[in-house]
Amino acid sequence: MAEVHCIEHPLIQHKLSLMRRKTTSTSNFRALLQEVAMLLGYEVTRDLPLERREIETPLMTMRAPFLAGKKVVLISVLRAGTGLLDGMTKILPSARVGHVGMYRHPETLEPVEYYFRVPSDLPDRQVIVVDPMLATGNSAAAAVSRIKQAGATQIKFACLLAAPEGIATFHAAHPDVPVYTAAIDERLDDHGYILPGLGDAGDRLFGTK
Ligand code: URA
Repeated sequence: MAEVHCIEHPLIQHKLSLMRRKTTSTSNFRALLQEVAMLLGYEVTRDLPLERREIETPLMTMRAPFLAGKKVVLISVLRAGTGLLDGMTKILPSARVGHVGMYRHPETLEPVEYYFRVPSDLPDRQVIVVDPMLATGNSAAAAVSRIKQAGATQIKFACLLAAPEGIATFHAAHPDVPVYTAAIDERLDDHGYILPGLGDAGDRLFGTK
């Protein structure tokens, strides 16, 4: 039941390698993350339902496919989720957006929630949770538990990099939530960073280090 989709598209892989380089500047990192998010979003939304509606082209009427149902909800896990959110909202401009604030306690590595604001009508909507780094999996699992408590039933999780440990922890808690990632790296270090990874995604995105 637990699905992991590793998106091996050459454009994603190339851009991800540029992002991993320690010499990549904040502005390039930010631009690349947005581009990768758009490409990941393309895969994550591949099975959105369509419905036919009549339209008129300049030449004739036709029954054309449009996205069906309620608008998708994107939920960003702060703070690095913002980078993926930017790209995803480019391809889903009408998406509703929520935010979950989680930080990792530096000693226990356990997630601590400090902010939660999501659209009120989650049950009928496809929810895509975005967080670039699925490291220990603790914050992602806690964020998704909270989003389920708020009523979401159809959830996907999209990240840039995942550690095998993070996928295992996440799927132990949420076997029903498919994970979409651009790469599965080797392992975590003693501080819960992904190796080889790309460092702290939030610091690299916002230039805070
Ligand atoms: N969060 C990050 O930003 N980087 C990691 O490697 C792990 C968690």
